[in-house]
Amino acid sequence: MTQRIAIVTGAARGIGAAIATRLGRDGFAVAVLDLDAAACAGTVESITGAGGTALAVGADVSVTERVEAAVAEVAEKLGPPTVLVNNAGILRDNLVFKMSDDDWDSVIGVHLRGAFLMSRAVQRHQTEQRYGRIVNLSSTSALGNRGQANYATAKAGMQGLTKTLAIELGRFGVTANAIAPGFIETDMTAATAARIGMPFEDFKAGVAASVPVGRIGQPEDVAATAAFLVSEEAGFVSGQVIYVAGGPAD
Ligand code: NAP
Repeated sequence: MTQRIAIVTGAARGIGAAIATRLGRDGFAVAVLDLDAAACAGTVESITGAGGTALAVGADVSVTERVEAAVAEVAEKLGPPTVLVNNAGILRDNLVFKMSDDDWDSVIGVHLRGAFLMSRAVQRHQTEQRYGRIVNLSSTSALGNRGQANYATAKAGMQGLTKTLAIELGRFGVTANAIAPGFIETDMTAATAARIGMPFEDFKAGVAASVPVGRIGQPEDVAATAAFLVSEEAGFVSGQVIYVAGGPAD
């Protein structure tokens, strides 16, 4: 079987880096995409060091021209991308009465517009190849979370986008699913602890106490779920939202 080409956005660190590394291990050629191509070096190294194929690609997923150029670069250097993981994300938390226009626009722009632009660019290759897998990173915050009106809206929107992609692209052999993680230990959650002035260790312990499996999540927990959803054998699973949260979230 020919090697499949995957693009993982926001893959310089955190969950995206873990997903890219896992897909490299599973035999995909991986485009490691992030704002700054140089920042992708560590993830690329973790894949090529294990004998895999990886390419660092710099692009802001919220900018149409950058997305079009990035997907074209991947197609030219690795081959037609048929697997896409929309993982890039930012936080601009604030209570609604203090949330600025920019807090709103930038979060919606990276998560929601970014996932739309990337999906639109990649589906051209997927429909041509009559095969594809799209995984969008949602969040338990999609169910509503204090201080995250922008982020919760974007993450709920990712679920609507996912189901619509599944409906529109299914006849081309393309599935689309969302992963909605709970608390995962990354720079993003470390920054949240710092913002509320709590040591990260205390913050993590507090969250773990409320999780049914008694621990917080690791990027590899999300990567394992993504690995299944992008596999050949997951071809009859589409339009689903999988909560990876150590317990029921919805
Ligand atoms: P992270 O450690 O902050 O990593 C996010 C990555 O996305 C960074 O490398 C960042 O680059 C990149 N990025 C930001 N804006 C971008 C843009 N416009 N274009 C391209 N790349 C961009 O976050 P994470 O915790 O791994 O989260 C990954 C995804 O999972 C996000 O969508 C997040 O919302 C979701 N999620 C996380 C958790 C959690 O508990 N951590 C829970 C639920 C959902 P820079 O370093 O240059 O900013």
